[in-house]
Amino acid sequence: MDMTRILECNMSACAYNMTNRCHTPGINVGSHAECNTYTHASGKGGVPEANAGVGACLAADCKFNEQLECRASNIDVASHNRHADCETYQVRS
Ligand code: SF4
Repeated sequence: MDMTRILECNMSACAYNMTNRCHTPGINVGSHAECNTYTHASGKGGVPEANAGVGACLAADCKFNEQLECRASNIDVASHNRHADCETYQVRS
């Protein structure tokens, strides 16, 4: 199974964010489609060459979620109500 990649993330204040890209190998997404890996730090973290992906996702009601794993081809993460959310989330009908 290939990890779903994060194309863009506009959370520039996050320690893992560099030029609107996420640079940790894998994030965790919470049950409300929030990015649980978002963090403040005194310096930047992550790995510059890392092409970030979704390690696990607890948003079980998302149409892309299968067995608590993301099966979307890719996702975007963006600010929503002052926190980081998966913008690709779509409730399963
Ligand atoms: S698209 Fe859905 S399953 Fe994939 S990370 Fe976002 S909320 Fe989770």
